[in-house]
Formats: sequence, C-alpha cells, structure tokens
Amino acid sequence: MFICKNCKSVDKFELMFDEDYRGNKEYSYYYDKNSNVVIEVNGYIFKPDLYFMNNHAVCRYCGQIYIWDYKS
Ligand SMILES: [Zn+2]
Repeated sequence: MFICKNCKSVDKFELMFDEDYRGNKEYSYYYDKNSNVVIEVNGYIFKPDLYFMNNHAVCRYCGQIYIWDYKS
C-alpha cells in the first residue's frame, strides 16, 4: 500500500498518462493476497513500485504528486 506524505490518505491515487499516450486511459487496481497494490491498464497487469507511483500517480484527495511512500 502507498501513503500520501502530504494528506496521509492511503492508495487514493489516480494515474497520470502522457499527453501522447494513445491507448484507452481506463485502469483499475486491486490488492493481491499479500495486500500489494496491483494495477491493470488495458489488460496490462503490474505491481507498481515507489518509483512508478512518484512518476505516474497523483493523490486523489490533495492533488499532490511525488509524495508517495510505502505504508507498512
Ligand atoms: Zn494526498
């Protein structure tokens, strides 16, 4: 799970897509049995790491970017 260092919300993120991204921008995320976040984008499934989150995810509540940390 990921926590926003600004507002402390957990896993309340939205993905940012590059302007030239041409695919369907729909995505979803869920948890595996180890409570890891799993993201699915256009059928592509992966577990995001902190680097990914801080480059591609914005906090849905406070709107900040580059603010994610792991929540144990
Ligand atoms: Zn936040």
